[in-house]
Amino acid sequence: MSISHPALDAGSTLLDVAGAAHDCTLCALAAGRTQVVFGVGAPDARLMFVGEGPGEQEDLQGEPFVGRAGKLLTQLIEGIGLTRDDVYIANVVKCRPPGNRDPLPVEIETCAPWLDRQLELIRPRVVVTLGNFATKLLLETKEGITKLRGQEFAFSRAGTMLATGGDLDAIRLWDVASHRQAGAPLAVPGGVESVAFSPGGGMLATGSTDGTARLWDVASHRQIGAPLKSAGTVDAVAFSPDGAMLATGSTDGAARLWDVATHRQIGSPFSAAGTVWSVAFSPDGAMLATGGPDGRVRLWNVATHRQIGAPLAVPASSVYSVAFSPDGAMLATGGDDDTWLWDVATHRQDGGPLTVPESVASVTFSPDGEILATGSTDGVRLWDVATRRQVGNPLIATNPVAFSLDGRLLATGSIDGVRLWNVADLADIVPQLCASAGQSLTRAEWAQYASGTAYQNVCS
Ligand code: SF4
Repeated sequence: MSISHPALDAGSTLLDVAGAAHDCTLCALAAGRTQVVFGVGAPDARLMFVGEGPGEQEDLQGEPFVGRAGKLLTQLIEGIGLTRDDVYIANVVKCRPPGNRDPLPVEIETCAPWLDRQLELIRPRVVVTLGNFATKLLLETKEGITKLRGQEFAFSRAGTMLATGGDLDAIRLWDVASHRQAGAPLAVPGGVESVAFSPGGGMLATGSTDGTARLWDVASHRQIGAPLKSAGTVDAVAFSPDGAMLATGSTDGAARLWDVATHRQIGSPFSAAGTVWSVAFSPDGAMLATGGPDGRVRLWNVATHRQIGAPLAVPASSVYSVAFSPDGAMLATGGDDDTWLWDVATHRQDGGPLTVPESVASVTFSPDGEILATGSTDGVRLWDVATRRQVGNPLIATNPVAFSLDGRLLATGSIDGVRLWNVADLADIVPQLCASAGQSLTRAEWAQYASGTAYQNVCS
């Protein structure tokens, strides 16, 4: 990307930037277009959709998502109680690729600063990526805007409280039994990138884009002591099983250990090759696993800060999430391509991948280790760990995912909120659909979401 890209000094309003993009001829797509399809919607939208590129109808009409896919998107938007005017819709490339082919990497890279400016000026709370190219651009290679990813949340140890991020600058605590918010939101300067409860549930840790992690007293909602300062966005936080240490993973390519009592860093950072997107302690607290965009998972000795053996070479370009099984024998990794299970002792893959069509942004074991939940943009899946088979249908939710301590509840995040699922019901599509819709479904809606299954007009 050239530093002199016209998007960078195109002005300070969306209209200015759209005007500058109107005549853009920076890549080869300019030759075949009818017009630049910049984007449409509310300039201060909280929710933004980003697709791949204009198709034939979009190219002719100058508006993204007006064809068949547009109709589906409109239905989706209306399904969550909004209209197209409430959101903003744009594409990764602003000009139609000939014959609707995939945009080339060079075209995506050349066009990306236009989208960057849109995101900078609109400042949406949530960005929904539609398709691989948008997801890849926004979630993998543009670290500056990964803060716009969906919600982060965690269950308290006792399973009575759920903490949710998602707003850029606050954490909310919820009483699981009543579904009511517990007190005022915790204002987190620098936004919420990651959140974890301490094992006792009395403390909450948050990681932020301002390069700090913070510890909070759950009862008083007050911050405990000064922030723990690292460098780069803190994308991951995890307490050690005894609650004495906090591990943080940052975009500066390091994981750090902190003494929770003194707020001091313990020893030198664990230097990974790139951003650390995920950290997890082994159940005995002796080992730390880190994953990031270099597609490697590293295991570290917590006492010596030394890497244990060679990195686990995950067959994916990025690792978004790592989780130890409750007995510590297995590690699950979620990334670009599928979910992989690893034998921790040998560093070898433990059976074939759990195949998921989209990137897996979160993985978590049930407390008994029998079920693995994976969260992707196309749904949340449950897997039987023993057989590696999928259990039931994908949940109509995205990610992240978290089990309550007793394993009876699963929390999932979506663009329209956080849902709690009764794990025992999850093989049955009816409660899933009802929970997702919040009402009984018409035949047409049922057919849209559950084609091939008998219609049931019951949501109670
Ligand atoms: S696709 Fe983007 S970079 Fe290429 S000509 Fe169109 S607006 Fe310019």
